Amino acid sequence: MKVAIDGPAGSGKSTVAKAIAKKCGFTLLDTGAMYRSVALACVQRGVDLNDTDAVAQVAREVKISFVPGEKVQRVLLDGEDVTSDIRTPLIDKAVTPVSANPGVREAMVAQQRAIGEQGDVVAEGRDIGTVVFPDAEVKVFLTADPAARALRRAVQRDGGDAATDAHATADQSAVEEIMADLIRRDKADSTREASPLRPAEDAVHIDSSNKTVDMVVSMIIQMMEGAR
Ligand code: C5P
Repeated sequence: MKVAIDGPAGSGKSTVAKAIAKKCGFTLLDTGAMYRSVALACVQRGVDLNDTDAVAQVAREVKISFVPGEKVQRVLLDGEDVTSDIRTPLIDKAVTPVSANPGVREAMVAQQRAIGEQGDVVAEGRDIGTVVFPDAEVKVFLTADPAARALRRAVQRDGGDAATDAHATADQSAVEEIMADLIRRDKADSTREASPLRPAEDAVHIDSSNKTVDMVVSMIIQMMEGAR
């Protein structure tokens, strides 16, 4: 079975997808981490992010893999652990032109489909229900208001998880800076030509602003049971 979870940054996709993968024994596919890894590889190699051919070439060359970790799944770029290096403000910015590059998307989607062929998968991103797995049995479009999303990202950057800790707080100026970046990224992701962020026609919309992770996870598991 394939479960597709799409939505803007900080909507809770990662936490929800992780919980479902654990509960149901599915492979977790964090496609945002893949685009971030390509962006990091470009930065490390000094590749101009506006040079579409050179960036697409990097995407075809790198090997991105996921390995189980103690708390979070680790992301390996050519065998090197880049789990925290891909979640910096620098990569938040660099990933935008990289993910808008059709050559990069082609390379990533091929890898994502190959992973999907190996068995049950819960994949999260922007184009899973529309492009990567249009035949997914369960499709969710997860949203949340910008303030809730910015707080979650700020707490995540400090090593916490606002989705599971209702009392989590973060520095207000950090939250504001993150909110501005989330709004910028949502706009870029939604208006780009290549696979823009948009819900699949048959996706179920869930607003997670006032829902706990458990509530959202239960809703999706019910949908999975209905689809079996
Ligand atoms: O989900 P995350 O915030 O880590 O994604 C980082 C960036 O990767 C997004 O802002 C978006 O530009 C890109 N992305 C994408 N398609 C996906 C997943 C992520 O374009 N399926």
